[in-house]
Amino acid sequence: MQIYDVIVVGAGVSGLAAANNLMLNGFDVLVVEARDRVGGRINSQAFAGVIVDLGASWIHGVQENPITRLAKKHNISTWRSQMCGPSPDNILHREMFNTEFKRLTHEQKLKIANWMADFLDYLETVQIDEESHLKSIADLKRQFILEQNIIKEDESYIDYIADTLFLYEYAIEAKDLSAESHHADIDFAGSDRLFPQGYAQITDLLAKNLVIQLNEPVQSIDYSGDLVQVITAASQYHATYVLVTVPLGVLKHADIGFNPYLPQSKRKSISQLEMGILNKIYLEFEDVFWDKEAQSIACLSPEHRIAREMMNFYPLSQKPILMAFTAGVVAKQLEHLSDRELIALVIDSLKHMYGENLPNLKNYCITRWHSDEYSYGSYSYLPVGVKAKRRQKLGKPVDNKVFFAGEATSFYFPSTVHGAFLSGVRSAYQILQIDLLTEDVRKKTAIVEDPYL
Ligand SMILES: Cc1cc2nc3c(=O)[nH]c(=O)nc-3n(C[C@H](O)[C@H](O)[C@H](O)COP(=O)(O)OP(=O)(O)OC[C@H]3O[C@@H](n4cnc5c(N)ncnc54)[C@H](O)[C@@H]3O)c2cc1C
Repeated sequence: MQIYDVIVVGAGVSGLAAANNLMLNGFDVLVVEARDRVGGRINSQAFAGVIVDLGASWIHGVQENPITRLAKKHNISTWRSQMCGPSPDNILHREMFNTEFKRLTHEQKLKIANWMADFLDYLETVQIDEESHLKSIADLKRQFILEQNIIKEDESYIDYIADTLFLYEYAIEAKDLSAESHHADIDFAGSDRLFPQGYAQITDLLAKNLVIQLNEPVQSIDYSGDLVQVITAASQYHATYVLVTVPLGVLKHADIGFNPYLPQSKRKSISQLEMGILNKIYLEFEDVFWDKEAQSIACLSPEHRIAREMMNFYPLSQKPILMAFTAGVVAKQLEHLSDRELIALVIDSLKHMYGENLPNLKNYCITRWHSDEYSYGSYSYLPVGVKAKRRQKLGKPVDNKVFFAGEATSFYFPSTVHGAFLSGVRSAYQILQIDLLTEDVRKKTAIVEDPYL
């Protein structure tokens, strides 16, 4: 019987980062992955003659970001992008349509940009205290509208600002998102960058020297004995430690059984934190019919939410490609529609904005992350009533045998690739500490533990 030092469950960026760190320290590591590929929520695919990302696309904030460092070190090219990372300046570079499908003028966009800057300033002034998690971002938005005396007709602009800042970033409606969210996360400085040849170059790189068993969904983990048993339909693996990196959605769905049953604090974290939904619809047309220079396109009509946040991929790909985001409750509802129905909705919205005679649609590609049985959502968020500290509890080891990593366990950088990556490094470090140091030494050195929380 082969006994591994560590079995890592899940070959997403967190699992791969952890496995690499452990392997470099001389541990025998096996990665067990349910899908037929590595990368998890990083998934680059060929589309319309270019590579597009169906999961993560952007390095958010390049400065000091560990992903930037990896890309640079391995000569993986990245492209400076203003498309994401909502900022007041960015609003001016959007092609925007009002609720009557009229193009906004530069002055109107400037007005929105200024309000966005004011709203961001206002959010900074909000005191974060023990009760903050009981309020929602929507509560803060209402307060802002009141304080600024914003008239009813202009509220659609504020709704859009809140959506672009929160709905499309946190993948959940402002009314369900804890007010603590805005302050809990740390953003890296610098611009956002995309990978013209796909984000998967990073996960492929991390996977290169690892032993990975693909196509094996883990069904249960038994940590009742001295060794941990990891059980799949085809095999039973044994190890001293197991590192679980599956998405929060999979833990919530209880697709992996644990013996003994997970302790209450862990279960509470799993049930209290939630998964948001962000989906992408890539569209290739015969010609570009929108403003080629625009970074993105936005329709403010509440009836056309499918066209509320569309990215213009022409500058990156030199191809007539748009990518529509859907997010939150709307994204979940839209997952039930067939491809045909969804495409008909987007085309209808675009016709309202650009007229009846659109160039033909050549290709499309649609994601459905909520229906994905190895994710059940796009990334985690803090619901109203839940403190950010829950993430730390989710990441805490059980019995010094079962460890947890993944974006949802990242206290400072949740919902991102760099947060997932650092959580993997943190967990590898925890395992190393447990394995190499006695409890006594660990207590004395506790101050240097958890540097990546
Ligand atoms: C649409 C979308 C857009 C995003 N955009 C960005 C972005 O622009 N920038 C950014 O920084 N982040 C973005 N993110 C978030 C980012 O992709 C994630 O935070 C990160 O990739 C998560 O990595 P992970 O290792 O925690 O989880 P995952 O990548 O999900 O890895 C977990 C692995 O576990 C596997 N697994 C599941 N169940 C089992 C099982 N039973 N047995 C074995 N294996 C199992 C899964 O298949 C998966 O491979 C986006 C995510 C989505 C979905």
